[in-house]
Parts: sequence; structure tokens; C-alpha cells
Amino acid sequence: METDKFKIKLEEEKARIESALSDIGERDPRNTENWDIKADDTSEVTFHDEVADRFEEMDERKATEFSLETELRAINDALTAIESGRYGQCQVCQKEIELDRLEANPSARTCKEHLDS
Ligand SMILES: [Zn+2]
Repeated sequence: METDKFKIKLEEEKARIESALSDIGERDPRNTENWDIKADDTSEVTFHDEVADRFEEMDERKATEFSLETELRAINDALTAIESGRYGQCQVCQKEIELDRLEANPSARTCKEHLDS
């Protein structure tokens, strides 16, 4: 399979996600695939509402961070698969994943038949 164009796409996507992650978090120095939410500024919070708002904001950031991290992991897996020549193989049936599916989502791990696996 011709993987060059997928590799380029995946690397672009990876750069985009890493820059989004660095806006809200910091890379864990011990595990570069793991990101931590940046600590909020430490100014005193006196009003209860403000505290609640902050927690809400942290929750949102955590959710965003989590989904970005998941995406990043899938992309890294796909890049590893390209290196080892396993790219584009369905993880369920081991058949080749449809090209149009890979074009829509270069980090897809399954063929259309096994979409939900
Ligand atoms: Zn399959």
C-alpha cells in the first residue's frame, strides 16, 4: 500500500493535536504520550461561585485533553504501523481497510465492516 500520503496527513494531524494539547496541558516528562492539565493560576478564590466555575472549566479541559490524547494515541499507533508495514490492516479481520475510509480517517483501525469494534 502507498502510505506516504497517509503518513503526511497523520503527521499534520499529530502536530495540530500536539499544539492544541500544549495550550491546555503539559507533556508528562516521564511519558511523552501522557499530558497533564496545566495548573490553574493560584490567585485566591473567595467566592463559592467562582470556585464552581473553575471546577467546571477544569472538567471541560480534562474532557478535551482526554479526547485529544486518545486521538494522538491512535495517530501514533498508525505511524508505528506505517513503519512496520502493517498500516491499513483491520484489527479484527486483518483485511485491508478500504482506501476511502483511510482517506477520511487515516488513523482508522478497522475496516467498514468492523466499524464498531
Ligand atoms: Zn475488518
